[in-house]
Amino acid sequence: MTPAAVVPGRSCENCTLCCKVLGIPELAKPRGQECTFCDTGRGCTIYGRRPEVCAEFYCSFLLSPALGEEWKPTTSHMVLGYIADADVIIIYTDPDHPGVWRQEPYLARVKKWARTTDTGYVLIWEGKGALALHGEDEFDLGALRDDQVIVRDDGRGDGIGNKTTVYVVDRDAAARGE
Ligand code: SF4
Ligand code: SF4
Repeated sequence: MTPAAVVPGRSCENCTLCCKVLGIPELAKPRGQECTFCDTGRGCTIYGRRPEVCAEFYCSFLLSPALGEEWKPTTSHMVLGYIADADVIIIYTDPDHPGVWRQEPYLARVKKWARTTDTGYVLIWEGKGALALHGEDEFDLGALRDDQVIVRDDGRGDGIGNKTTVYVVDRDAAARGE
């Protein structure tokens, strides 16, 4: 990712929300807790030696012109990301603003994303837990442990009507295909 991909006129100015909502394994920093190196609203106090994962992160507000100004993290209290190959939209909510994604103008857009993905889902990190949205369904994934992974199953393998579900399994079991 290069800064050249950033939507013209957008920047991280006055925002450090990703330094709060994202987990940074390299720093043993949990999701939803501000990084000890963060100067809130100003930037990173170890900028030149911040972990690569920090240096490479650009939220979707910076990258996507399809997201209007209402999605600016300092306004929405959410940080968005996107996993293109799985078509998974990730929403990290600020723990100080629980449920903000259920408010308008956000809810209608989130539901539309959940309805219109064929291969993915919307993943919402909120508090200590996570939710997945697909179609009209909401899946409470609970508080994920580090040794768990999220699985999306379109139901085609078990003959129960092609009903997509999203759930959590132990990483070892997933690797064994269980
Ligand atoms: S959430 Fe987005 S705009 Fe805010 S500091 Fe992080 S990358 Fe920049
Ligand atoms: S190391 Fe710097 S950029 Fe990374 S989370 Fe902490 S404050 Fe943010």
